[in-house]
Amino acid sequence: MFLFVFALAGVALALQLLTARHAIREVEVARLQDVSRYVSENLTRQLKGLNEALTRISRDYRASALAASSSDSSRQLHLLTDVIQAVRGLAVYDANGTAVASDRAIDVGRDFFAKEFFRTVRGRPDPHVLYLSRPSASDDEGVALHLSRAVFDAAGQFTGVVTATLDDEFFAFTLRAALFASDMRATMAHADGEVFVTVPSMGSERMANLSRPGSAFEAHVQSKRQNTVYEGLVPATGRERLVVLASVKPQGLGLDNTVVLAVSRERSEVYAPWYAQVRLYTTLYATVLVLATGLRLFERRRLRRLLAQEEASQAALQLTAARLERALDGAQLGLWELQVDTRQLRIDARGARMLGYGNAEVVRSVEEWTATLHPADRAGNTAAFASHLRGASPAYENEFRVGVGDGGQFVWLFSRGKVTERAEGGAPLRMIGTFMDITERKANEAALADAVLLQKKSGEIARVGGWTRDLATGESQWTDEVYRIHDLEPGSAPDLPRTLDYYTPASRPLIDAAVQRCIQDGTPWDLELQIVSAKGRLLWVRTQGEAIRRDGTIVRLAGAFQDITARKQAALELERLNATLSELSYQDALTGLGNRRLFDDTLQAEWARNARQGSALSLLMVDVDYFKRFNDLHGHQAGDECLKRVAHVLRDALWRSHERAMRYGGEEFAILLPETTLEGARQVAQRLLDAIATARIAHGASVLGPWVTLSIGVACVTPAADGRPTHLTRRADMALYQAKSQGRACFVADETPASVL
Ligand code: GH3
Ligand code: MG
Ligand code: MG
Repeated sequence: MFLFVFALAGVALALQLLTARHAIREVEVARLQDVSRYVSENLTRQLKGLNEALTRISRDYRASALAASSSDSSRQLHLLTDVIQAVRGLAVYDANGTAVASDRAIDVGRDFFAKEFFRTVRGRPDPHVLYLSRPSASDDEGVALHLSRAVFDAAGQFTGVVTATLDDEFFAFTLRAALFASDMRATMAHADGEVFVTVPSMGSERMANLSRPGSAFEAHVQSKRQNTVYEGLVPATGRERLVVLASVKPQGLGLDNTVVLAVSRERSEVYAPWYAQVRLYTTLYATVLVLATGLRLFERRRLRRLLAQEEASQAALQLTAARLERALDGAQLGLWELQVDTRQLRIDARGARMLGYGNAEVVRSVEEWTATLHPADRAGNTAAFASHLRGASPAYENEFRVGVGDGGQFVWLFSRGKVTERAEGGAPLRMIGTFMDITERKANEAALADAVLLQKKSGEIARVGGWTRDLATGESQWTDEVYRIHDLEPGSAPDLPRTLDYYTPASRPLIDAAVQRCIQDGTPWDLELQIVSAKGRLLWVRTQGEAIRRDGTIVRLAGAFQDITARKQAALELERLNATLSELSYQDALTGLGNRRLFDDTLQAEWARNARQGSALSLLMVDVDYFKRFNDLHGHQAGDECLKRVAHVLRDALWRSHERAMRYGGEEFAILLPETTLEGARQVAQRLLDAIATARIAHGASVLGPWVTLSIGVACVTPAADGRPTHLTRRADMALYQAKSQGRACFVADETPASVL
């Protein structure tokens, strides 16, 4: 706007100046034209007068006999020259160019035939033409311009020329009189461009030629117009000028050439006042512009400073708002504002979203709000508000349920607020607060309470307690059950050395070592140990513990503690009972085969019987190959399982009712074959090997293959009544030893002749 106004003002000023310049030019051209008109009228008058004079002289010359009256004529011409100011000389020439009369007596009789003005007339004499010569320089008289007429006799024959020489000084005087400024110049020139007279005189312009190609003079002559105006460089003088050119060729004189008048002024002079005006305007404009710009810049800077301040405070405000927003967002807080006097409650967009009201802030009356609360919480909430508004509590703080959606669902809110604005009398005007959705926390609390109760109950029933110990503070926590097991009152916090003191001297080193290991590298423990309770009861406890790490470092120990005295006592009792039972039994508990006791008794009986009968008695000692490795690889449990399967295979492979496999011990089995020869015993041994191969019991650690194999030692005797049955077992053992050393998975029979022992 500012620039536009100034540009407009600038354009207006420029237009004004252009108009002024134009006006100045108009005035100046008019003045120059006035001068040119005045001079040309003067010149016309002079030319007319001269033509008159020349006509009369030529008439006189024709009428009289020139030769006779030449001196009279000359005198008359001299007189005329004096009278006519514009003329410097008058002369009459005969047809051959000889002066017959002249205002200058000495010229009479001289030959002017070669002179250009004479030759021009004689070349094409015409009674109706007034001849104007081109200016010619003459040493003594300056520039000469000749005006001539041809003279004819009665017969129309050319007889001579009458010539007037124009006085350049007269014309210079005339021109000078018309100049109105010092820089003004007036020139009278022939149409060919040759200067006749110019004022003020320049000296050097004598015989100068104005007609140069492209000059204003030439343009004027070629235009054939009477008047032209030119403004620009003048080549003759090399100056910028305003020129008015006028052609003078009076009607009715028969003038054969044109006189051109040039009146001019120096452009810088003409426009001097205009330039002054331009300077003034420019100065004024520039001054105003500079002042206005300065003022505007100052104003702008002030404005910008104000704006920057405004922006800064805005930014600070926004930052604060954004921070608050982030804080509220991060904490998942809804914001509310209560207008106490109008009882209008405004809830922000986040809060509205939390309550399922949509995404924009909502305004509720306090009554509307209270109606959405769970009926059980309404009175409490209203009371909490009232208490704070009364000033009875430093802040309003309450947990309550509020309905969300239409499904009759409620969320738990924790709301907190304060009066932030009070009237002059202290009456509260405004309250601001936040609320948080604590539904999950409430649910967790409830679940936790349930879990605690459950734990307590189950702990009581199973007599299991839990404990934790903070390694940094050394503080321990026991559940009630742990206290109870120790015969202590729940609540008092025991310290670690004291808790370990309850262990019996036998258990103490074990628990100490377990705790140390766990603290060092986190190895958990699970031990059954004994403690002596505060009341001196000896108890079996199962103690479990493990390390709890935070960021890779062990910070706490935690575990379970259970009274297992009853179970332990029962187990011990059972163990004792089982032992007595198996002592009294013939059956091997694992395989269900006969046991070592049965074998010993049977061997004794069969030995006696076969001795009586004199029949052969054979014995197979069967041993599982690489069974130690089996246990090491597959575990003891799998080992037991394997033994059961082997026992099964053996039992199935024995067909006769009195042929029975018995567990001799460990992974060794004994098979007593009454009334069986060595040959028969060999066949049974081979059958057993085949049976175990078919059974394909997996053995991952045998060097013989993927399956379990057996080695068998075979021995046969015909017992003597007083013989020792151990003899048979020893020989079978030896054969077994050989089978082992021969590479296993085979049987070896003791080939010593069956003698009576
Ligand atoms: P070899 O081929 O020479 O007989 O090697 P082996 O490993 O079978 O013999 P060794 O006598 O060195 O090892 C017998 C192993 O049998 C030792 C023991 O751990 C295991 N054993 C003995 N009785 C039982 C049992 O009742 N159950 C289980 N699972 N393993 C037993
Ligand atoms: Mg063995
Ligand atoms: Mg073995």
